[in-house]
Amino acid sequence: INICGIPFDNVTMSEAITLAENELQKKGASVVVTPNAEIAEMCVEDESIHQTIASAEMVLPDGAGIITAAEILGTPLKEKVAGVEFGMELIRHAEKHGYSLFFLGGKPSVAETAAERLKATYKNLKIAGTHDGYFTKTGTENDAVIEEINVSNADILFVCLGAPMQEIWSMKNRESLTSVRLIACLGGSLDIYAGTAKRAPKIFIKLRLEWLYRLLREPKRLGRMMKIPKYLRYVKKAAKRKE
Ligand code: UDP
Repeated sequence: INICGIPFDNVTMSEAITLAENELQKKGASVVVTPNAEIAEMCVEDESIHQTIASAEMVLPDGAGIITAAEILGTPLKEKVAGVEFGMELIRHAEKHGYSLFFLGGKPSVAETAAERLKATYKNLKIAGTHDGYFTKTGTENDAVIEEINVSNADILFVCLGAPMQEIWSMKNRESLTSVRLIACLGGSLDIYAGTAKRAPKIFIKLRLEWLYRLLREPKRLGRMMKIPKYLRYVKKAAKRKE
């Protein structure tokens, strides 16, 4: 379903995992992105970010803002497929099918802690390696990170550098990755898996107020978050034009 130029996959969580498995069967590294309304607004404002997001093999609707936008346009999506939950399902799928994972992103030790905590629950999970997200994204430092991922022989790579950096990095480097067949761009998910950040309580999610919970915990997000109402105003105008 095309929402103002972003081609979202209209899938349930289990269908998203089926799509991911199809991508894992292909050669080369496919990219999964999970745009929310903030990222969708960045796409409106910046054509190069739009191109990056729209060229991913899988585009999953993260966040109540995207679900609302789809409703406004009269083309509702089946359900929200939040990146952090998709990542968890992918971890379970990887454990079951023997795929190995590499976690890239977060502050030093976050990816390692996430790996340790997950391995305590999912005993057969294969973590091929981890690396924090604070490295120079070009030149020799970047080459060394790519080399580390390639040597680890990982099948699935989680890239958690925040948007749009993680999507740009993934598109730029996908062809240098020799073993990875699926790259999942998952924002702050490693912080959640590591326990350094908390997901909003279910009631906030149900009421489509996850943004409010995040804002209360991190007031400095206010500037970024103003993109959400801005995006919805843009979508409403687009819906009027369609009438
Ligand atoms: N991050 C990183 N490298 C950077 C900048 C950010 O690894 O150069 C990480 C940061 O530590 C955090 C994540 O990227 O874990 C971004 O989280 P946020 O919740 O802002 O992302 P969102 O899901 O909202 O895009």
